[in-house]
Amino acid sequence: MTEIQIKREALLSLLQDLIQIESVNPSLASKGSGEAAIARYIGDYLSNLGLEVHFQEIEKNRVNVVGILKGSGGGPSLMLNGHTDTVSADSMEMDPFAAEENDGKIYGRGALDMKAGVAALITAVQSIITAGIKLQGDVILTLVADEEYASIGTETVVNEYTADAAIICEPTDLDIVIAHKGFAWTKIEIFGHAAHGSLPHIGVDAIVKAGKVLAAVDELGQTSLKKKTHPLLGSASIHASLIEGGTELSTYPDYCKIELERRNLPGEDRKQVTEEMQALLDNIRRQDNQFKADLEVFFFRPAFEISREQPIVQTVSRAYASALNKTPKFQGMWGWLDSAILAQAGIPAVIFGPSGEGAHAAVEHVDVQSVITTTRVLVQSIIDFCKP
Ligand SMILES: [Zn+2]
Repeated sequence: MTEIQIKREALLSLLQDLIQIESVNPSLASKGSGEAAIARYIGDYLSNLGLEVHFQEIEKNRVNVVGILKGSGGGPSLMLNGHTDTVSADSMEMDPFAAEENDGKIYGRGALDMKAGVAALITAVQSIITAGIKLQGDVILTLVADEEYASIGTETVVNEYTADAAIICEPTDLDIVIAHKGFAWTKIEIFGHAAHGSLPHIGVDAIVKAGKVLAAVDELGQTSLKKKTHPLLGSASIHASLIEGGTELSTYPDYCKIELERRNLPGEDRKQVTEEMQALLDNIRRQDNQFKADLEVFFFRPAFEISREQPIVQTVSRAYASALNKTPKFQGMWGWLDSAILAQAGIPAVIFGPSGEGAHAAVEHVDVQSVITTTRVLVQSIIDFCKP
C-alpha cells in the first residue's frame, strides 16, 4: 500500500485547537457552550482543504458540520463520524482547555473523548489530499453535536446524508469495536391510597409496594439477565436510578415513582424489554391484589453489532494489519455509541480510535502516538474503501 506522510505537528496543533474550544454539551451542564464554535472552526479548516462544507443547525448553539471530499465517481462512499461535544469540565483537576502536551500525552476535557478522533479523521483526509491521491468514492466527514446526551447530532446527519459504510473514531485503545450495548429508560409509577398514619385498614403504602418492585428488579438482574450474555459485551443488566415518593411522616404515601435503566444486548428490542418489565409487575399483582402500577419504557436505544465479514470491518482490519504489522483485536464497548443510529439508517459502522485515560473523569488525556496510529489506519482504510 501507498506510504503516506502524516504531519505530526499539524495533527497535534489541530487537536490542541479543538480542545481549546470549549464545547461542553449544554444538555449536561447548563453553562456549556455547545458545538457552534467548534463546528465553525472545523468548517473553516475543511473549507481550506477544499472540501464541500455544510452546517446543520439543530437547535441554538447545537450544530453539526459536514465536509465532503468528492470522489471521481464509481467507488463506495465512506462516512467518518466523530462527536464534537464533551461532558462537563467542572470537576477537572487541571485547566480543562489548556491542551497541554506532556510526556507523550495531551491533556484536557475531550482530549480522549473524542477530539483526538476528530483531529485524526480530519488529518487522515488532509494527508490523502496532500499526497495528491484521487479517490473514486466520496468521503463524508460528519462532526456531530450531542453524542454525550441524546445523539441529536447523528440523528440529524442520517436524515440528510448516507454512505456505504462508516467509521466512528471514538477512543477504542486501537482495538476494532464491533458491538456495544443499548439501553432502555423505564418509569414505573406505583399507586397507593393516602391515609392518616394511624389507619392501616385504609392506607395503602405506595413506597412499601415499590419495595416489592425493587426486590423483583434485583432478582431479575441476579438471575435471568445475568444469564443473557454476549461474547464481547458481558451480560444484560438493570438498575434503579431514581426514586421519588411520600409526603410526610404521618401519612400513608399514595404515590411512588421509580426510574430504571436496563442495559440491553444485540437482539433485544423495545417490545421484549417492555414485556419483561410488564411480566415482573403482573407477577407482583398476582400475589398482592392491592398492588397497582403503570409502566412506561420512555426512551429506548438498541444495542449494536456488526459482522466481522462486513467490508468495512475487513477494510479497517487490513489497514490496521498493514499499519501496525499485527492482527487487530475485536472488542465490544459497554457504553452507548452513535453506531446504532447509523446501523438503523442502513450504514454499517465500525468504531476505531486512540488510547488514553479519563474520559468523563477529573484528568483526561490521550496518548499522542496512538492518535498518529489512528490517523495512519484511517488513511489506509479510506484509500482501500473508496478506491484510488
Ligand atoms: Zn465519546
